[in-house]
Formats: sequence, C-alpha cells, structure tokens
Amino acid sequence: MQLHDTRRRNLFQRAGDRCECRLTLCNHKGRCRQQLRWEERGRAWDVLHMHLSEDPDDSDNWLVLCLTCLRLWPSHLADGDQQATLPSKALP
Ligand SMILES: [Zn+2]
Ligand SMILES: [Zn+2]
Repeated sequence: MQLHDTRRRNLFQRAGDRCECRLTLCNHKGRCRQQLRWEERGRAWDVLHMHLSEDPDDSDNWLVLCLTCLRLWPSHLADGDQQATLPSKALP
C-alpha cells in the first residue's frame, strides 16, 4: 500500500527514527532499534501495513521497519505470528 510522505513522517517520528520491529524470530532481542534515516525511506526502511483494524488511519496499523526486518515480516505474518509482534503503546 502506498503511503503519503506526510503520514510516513509521522510514523517515522513516532518510531524515534529507529526500527519498531519486535519479532522474536529476528536476530535482535526485544525491539530492533536499527537506526534509520528519513532520506533512505523506501530503500533502507519502510512502513508496513498490519491490517489490525478496519481504520486505515489508525497508527497502530502501521509499523516502521528496517529493510532487514521488512524482508522477514511477510512470511512471519503468513505463519500467523503477528500476535506476538503487536506494537506496544508502552514503548518508550
Ligand atoms: Zn529492524
Ligand atoms: Zn526485526
């Protein structure tokens, strides 16, 4: 899904310019925290639509991911692992 840059920047800022991935199957422990640069959007990182709710404007529906994690995510989602990877509002 294409995302407007304004919207993408909001998510980028929420993420604190770091990857928001919390997949246990990735090599990182806890949150990924890979540093991301805004200029490299769409290349070194991008946002993933989670389809968690019907509302496309719900920020919880989007996750900022570095390329490494982004490549791993679709297969993980297909495995039904998304339950363990929901973004937490308790994140710092
Ligand atoms: Zn990552
Ligand atoms: Zn990851």
